[in-house]
Amino acid sequence: MEIGVKTSLNPFEIAQRQLDEAARILELDPDLHELLRWPMREFHVRIPVRMDDGRVRMFEGFRVQYNNARGPCKGGIRFHPEETFDTVRALAAWMTWKTAVLDLPLGGGKGGVVCNPKEISPWELERLARGYIRALGHYIGPDVDVPAPDVYTNPQVMAWMLDEYETITGHRAPGVITGKPLPLGGSAGRGDATARGGMYCIREAGKALDITLAGATAAIQGYGNAGQYAHSLGQELLGLKVVAVSDSKGGIYNPGGLDARAVLAHKEKTGSVVGFPGAKGITNAEILELPVTVLIPAALENQITAANAPRIKARIVAELANGPTTPEADQILHKNKVYVIPDFLCNAGGVTVSYFEQVQNAYNYYWDEAEVHQRLDQKMTTAFHAVHDTAQGHKVHNRLGAYLVAVSRVAEAVKLRGWA
Ligand code: NAD
Repeated sequence: MEIGVKTSLNPFEIAQRQLDEAARILELDPDLHELLRWPMREFHVRIPVRMDDGRVRMFEGFRVQYNNARGPCKGGIRFHPEETFDTVRALAAWMTWKTAVLDLPLGGGKGGVVCNPKEISPWELERLARGYIRALGHYIGPDVDVPAPDVYTNPQVMAWMLDEYETITGHRAPGVITGKPLPLGGSAGRGDATARGGMYCIREAGKALDITLAGATAAIQGYGNAGQYAHSLGQELLGLKVVAVSDSKGGIYNPGGLDARAVLAHKEKTGSVVGFPGAKGITNAEILELPVTVLIPAALENQITAANAPRIKARIVAELANGPTTPEADQILHKNKVYVIPDFLCNAGGVTVSYFEQVQNAYNYYWDEAEVHQRLDQKMTTAFHAVHDTAQGHKVHNRLGAYLVAVSRVAEAVKLRGWA
């Protein structure tokens, strides 16, 4: 038994089981399979931070560099009170498969700090961000491992981390971190990249399934970065009629359609989409079962389960959220011919534009938004068809198809390097 891996079901164990299924179908060499089941390198650090009251508090931090056979590790840093080593390991594994399915020349990594950013001051947050880089700065870098924002970290936190890294190393290195503010080398088009990438996938799914999307109905669960942009871009790029949206307080439904700008204005004014004039209330459970063409989970994990999957009526489920569908539900949706665009393909627009940010930093030359959109479209469309064709060829659901594409690419790089 490896130290730190619990015997109970945990995200890392799930990530390993998903890999095992792909390895079985691919008939992976057992040594190679074993290598891919584990992170290549892990860091566990304690970060002393001087708090505003003068006392020093210790924070626990992690960085997992899961696999770098295809390129430098890439993955966000989460600041969360319930962060665990195994969650970070699982997320680092999933980043490895996500960068591979998009065919980016990157590996997978993830970081985390056990803390509650809502309970510390902005000055303490800055000292914690800098402390994380002092603890790990020698083990990251543009050619080694490139962090980014994730849960409860943002462009300002990335700016502090970049500044600390450049202070320690004594030279400019904007490519060490992505998701930076624009004046420090961020990329145009990063804000809506996740939802935009998802829209390109839905467009291609519409073509593959011969579904006309212009005027087709859609429902979106979750109204944060991913959900809000899915609403406006769904209207703008695909002509979707979004009839229902929701946030943590509940949902709204209007079969005649909901205007993205008006709903956002209402949410900004009242704090929720609930109570939007002309729409009727709907629960977060009901929104998933509406008779719409496209369903977009953009909130939490484990929303579509064996219990409600038989009642999902959408033709296409586009997973902008991470892990919204359980493995049991996957089987049911596949049997019912519901076409799922799996999370690590559908929401990969964000990491793809992060990669573009690194490329621009290396070039020291910056693209305009139109160029970012065009390149994102090309990457997402190519990845979509690789997954679709593989899934059809093996007669498996799309999530397994995406694993087959990703795992075979990483396995090939590992083999070429002579690691297994
Ligand atoms: P966010 O924090 O901006 O928004 C989350 C939204 O979900 C909020 O509107 C919140 O009200 C809503 N919500 C919370 N609990 C809910 C519930 N019980 N039912 C319905 N809605 C609920 O987060 P985000 O960045 O939009 O991320 C949403 C999902 O997309 C997450 O799973 C995240 O991992 C995934 N994702 C986001 C990005 C990105 O670039 N933002 C990239 C990849 C994946």
